[in-house]
Amino acid sequence: MSDIIQLLPDAIANQIAAGEVIQRPASVVKELMENAIDAGATRVQLVIREAGKALIQVVDNGCGMSETDARLCFERHATSKIRKADDLFAIKTMGFRGEALASIAAIAQVEMRTRRKEDELGTRIVIEASDVKKQEPCQCAPGTTISVKNLFYNVPARRNFLKSNSREMRHIIDEFQRIALANKKIFFSLHHNDSEMFHLDPSKLRQRIVGVFGNKYNKKLVPIGEETDVLKLSGYVGKPEFAKKTRGEQLFFVNGRFIKSPYLNHAVMSAYEDILKKDTFPLYVIFIEIDPSRIDINVHPTKQEIKFEDERLVYNYLKVTVRHALGQYSITPTLDFEQEVSITKNLNKGMSGGSNKLVSSDMQVNKVTIPSKFNEDDERISSNNKNWQDLYEGIEAFDNELEATDQPEEVENAAVTIDSEWPTDSKLDDNKGSFSKQQPKPYQVHNRYIVSHIKSGFMLIDQQAAHERIKYERFLKALESGKIATQQQLFPKTIKVSVANAEIINSILPQINQLGFDLKDFGKDTFVIHGIPADVKSGKEEAVIESLVEQYRKNVDLNLDLRDNLARALAKSTSIKRGQELAEAEMRELIDQLFACEVPYKSPYGRACFITYDLDDLNKRFKG
Ligand code: ADP
Ligand code: MG
Repeated sequence: MSDIIQLLPDAIANQIAAGEVIQRPASVVKELMENAIDAGATRVQLVIREAGKALIQVVDNGCGMSETDARLCFERHATSKIRKADDLFAIKTMGFRGEALASIAAIAQVEMRTRRKEDELGTRIVIEASDVKKQEPCQCAPGTTISVKNLFYNVPARRNFLKSNSREMRHIIDEFQRIALANKKIFFSLHHNDSEMFHLDPSKLRQRIVGVFGNKYNKKLVPIGEETDVLKLSGYVGKPEFAKKTRGEQLFFVNGRFIKSPYLNHAVMSAYEDILKKDTFPLYVIFIEIDPSRIDINVHPTKQEIKFEDERLVYNYLKVTVRHALGQYSITPTLDFEQEVSITKNLNKGMSGGSNKLVSSDMQVNKVTIPSKFNEDDERISSNNKNWQDLYEGIEAFDNELEATDQPEEVENAAVTIDSEWPTDSKLDDNKGSFSKQQPKPYQVHNRYIVSHIKSGFMLIDQQAAHERIKYERFLKALESGKIATQQQLFPKTIKVSVANAEIINSILPQINQLGFDLKDFGKDTFVIHGIPADVKSGKEEAVIESLVEQYRKNVDLNLDLRDNLARALAKSTSIKRGQELAEAEMRELIDQLFACEVPYKSPYGRACFITYDLDDLNKRFKG
């Protein structure tokens, strides 16, 4: 029998490859626009007819091609972007497989005009079903114009498979928007059947997002930005109150390339966990810059998936960064629709409480593994405070003279309580980190809430919930880093507990001591306290340990992890209580520290820490 294996003719091989790379008009849009960007274009115009079924044209002012390259670029595996296998690991361009043009030319009628700046004449080439019909010199501007007509004209099965014009147009717009967002310095326009749908001048990212999604978006955006040696994150996330019922508007870019990643999406969503209404999806446009050698983008022909060398790290870092950003910005009361609802409700009830509906009640405190940079507390606190400062900015301090005469007494008064009860970061004491010191006096109502002025109105802070949050985060961090100050007792104190409690204490003794206690088992039901955390008032140690154990037992039912449980329990046992009178300095410290928290909204037990009231809304209500 004779040999039966044959190499496929190029035209057929290209058609088969096209099946992978070109699924619909939007795939052509993506490939052509990416080529334009790779060619260094600063202007990219997209012209579409009949949702791309009749025409897809991309006009760029990039580097253009020589006569020979103009012919070669339609060959399979023809690429100027990688030359050796090593290059695969350092890819910075969008394309690299050299498949797109060959595939497109196999299944459509393509016309290309291209000219390099240095050439006097350009080249015009016409190619249909991989068959070069014409190649000739032509007059044209520097750059490249590719027109793809009658996509799938020679593959009827594929052509019939295309969806309605509006569906296909939606896909095209998606691709266009992704590319426009990833390349804010490039001018883009999109015409569909002679009407201009987008006209995007080079701009900053915020303007680009607004240009792409619409004017309303400007007030919805919260910037994010963090950087480590391996990773840089930037972009915007949406304020939780604007989250939509549908996904979409959730975009990741890795080194400028749009990718889909359910895993990273999960990281972002979990950063929103406790502040999002159920079944809503926030906007995000997040850029991840990472050394190309740490990722593998060659996992899928359409290159929308990616593998990271260290996925966990990216996940955690992303989550913490988004949480941090939301912590700083996401309460902007003037824009907060839900807030208005709760104001209305509360005012109707004579402002007698009611909870902030912005946040869902079934909150779960989730543990974030904090990358090293975030352990640098000072940095976070000062940057967080700086951003919260925006909330307060524009408020003149009350009568300065009054302040000056008031001060000595209060500082003295405060010094007593604060030294024992508030071992604070020295950074916070020197006014730099403490923005609330320059703000109007906060005051206390019913020994329970603190009223604090903010730019757009005021906020009511629940003192106990807020203090629990502050302590919780501090203790959690102590358990993670093993650093918390212990006050050694001059006279060690012996305590007796129930046998059941003794067993519990023994089982968690190392962790209790990590929280700043110096507790030793003295056999049976007896313990000796040699030291207590700086947060605990001397004389209260016995009560604190008892309530810690009590609280711990309750929390066990909640299935919390050990550290979370302990941090919560001790936060609860050592926090300021409702009904406790606070000095002005204490209130100011509390506010400062609350907004230096990673998640200032909620106590670890899920209570809202504050509610904001908008002046405009109040004014409206008083108008009658
Ligand atoms: P890839 O982008 O993966 O290299 P393509 O088939 O998309 O493969 O393109 C093949 C080659 O054609 C590119 O490597 C590039 O050299 C050239 N090319 C394609 N489009 C353009 C363009 N708009 N301007 C200049 N050169 C282009
Ligand atoms: Mg390409």
